[in-house]
Amino acid sequence: MPEPTTQKPLPPGMVLGPDGKPCRACASGAMFRNWKPTIATKEQARNQKSQVGTSAVAAVAASSVGPLPPLHNQTNCPPRSEELGRATWTFLHTTAAYYPDRPTPTQRANVLSLIRALPLLYPCSHCADDFGEDVKLNAPDVSGRAGLSRWLCDRHNEVNRKLGKAAFDCSKTDERWKDGPADGSCD
Ligand SMILES: Cc1cc2nc3c(=O)[nH]c(=O)nc-3n(C[C@H](O)[C@H](O)[C@H](O)COP(=O)(O)OP(=O)(O)OC[C@H]3O[C@@H](n4cnc5c(N)ncnc54)[C@H](O)[C@@H]3O)c2cc1C
Repeated sequence: MPEPTTQKPLPPGMVLGPDGKPCRACASGAMFRNWKPTIATKEQARNQKSQVGTSAVAAVAASSVGPLPPLHNQTNCPPRSEELGRATWTFLHTTAAYYPDRPTPTQRANVLSLIRALPLLYPCSHCADDFGEDVKLNAPDVSGRAGLSRWLCDRHNEVNRKLGKAAFDCSKTDERWKDGPADGSCD
């Protein structure tokens, strides 16, 4: 295990990546959103400041009132694992939705490369490891649009299951990722 390269204590919810550096994309933003400590005294605020070292904390230290404001407003900030996950699933499901019904050997090879690259490149390292294990057990179906969409839906549902989320109805992948609902509300 590589040594951490930072001397500063990690903010709550932050985790280290495989390189020993803080990895935002590995960390859950929920930890930050749900983190609402009440600062009762300047002393506690000072302690928080020395641990976290943000101007937001400094502002609370000066006033000593109420909970800390968010560390940042989450707009235009580097993604945490949820945001990265949503963006990646959007890309993957949309790619599957537009994959040909009868792909050429080159198209099959390309999509296979994309899937196989994820466990190696996906920046949330524990997500990447889990996904890699799942792909080993469940060979990608790159035979055509329907097969790829179904395979990805099942993989995503596996992650949903691990995270305690409801399963998505895989008969609705086209509606969700290609056609939109029949009522035209996405047109
Ligand atoms: C390859 C990969 C592995 C991941 N592994 C982890 C992990 O190990 N731990 C972790 O905490 N997070 C992991 N994530 C992130 C996680 O899956 C979510 O993206 C993140 O928690 C945000 O969830 P969400 O509820 O906003 O919606 P998401 O799960 O991101 O889903 C986005 C949208 O996709 C649609 N959808 C949901 N399920 C399906 C499905 N089965 N098929 C088609 N469409 C669907 C829904 O409309 C949903 O709103 C991973 C992401 C990816 C891409």
